[in-house]
Amino acid sequence: MVVAIDGPAGAGKSTVARAVAGALSFTYLDSGAMYRCVALASIERHAEPALVAAEVQISLGERVLLDGSDVTEAIRTAEVSEAASKVAADPAVRVAMVAEQRRLMSSGDWVAEGRDIGTVVMPNAEVKVYLTASPQERARRRAEELGVSAQTVLAEQTLRDQRDITRADSPLRAAEGAVQLDTTGLTLDQVVARVVALIPGQHS
Ligand code: C5P
Repeated sequence: MVVAIDGPAGAGKSTVARAVAGALSFTYLDSGAMYRCVALASIERHAEPALVAAEVQISLGERVLLDGSDVTEAIRTAEVSEAASKVAADPAVRVAMVAEQRRLMSSGDWVAEGRDIGTVVMPNAEVKVYLTASPQERARRRAEELGVSAQTVLAEQTLRDQRDITRADSPLRAAEGAVQLDTTGLTLDQVVARVVALIPGQHS
């Protein structure tokens, strides 16, 4: 089974997807980490993102490995966030990442989060959720995580949102059949309970 969770940056996708995966004993897939790895490798190697995407070995799990090196923290910097949002607009990069995501999810039970899981990667996912929150709330959460000002985060977030929504290839939007869930003012436990309740056979 696949649970697809999409939405803009800072809506709480990672925390929610990880918690839902834990609650159901499903495997968590952070598709954004893959775009971040391509961005980091492209910066470090001064190489075209499309070439990097075709060659790179990414291993997701407790730690994120890029060609065997632990990049768990390195892919979370503001520089890599910005670069990831740019490389993610390249169709050649997306083709490689989507193929790898589909390969991973071809067997087993998954909670996958990103921007295009329900629309492109797994349009037949059994459960689709589109997670949102107000821009101010999303910026506040990210700022708290990163220890920086909410104003700076809001400015960068608005740019990344715009890029994700307006790009020609796989723009961010709610998938057909997705349940929209606005997490503004909800606790993590409340959001997780609502997502878990959508899964056939699960009652919270
Ligand atoms: O989710 P996260 O912020 O880690 O993703 C990093 C970037 O990768 C996003 O800004 C977005 O542009 C891109 N992305 C994407 N499709 C996905 C996941 C992430 O385009 N499925």
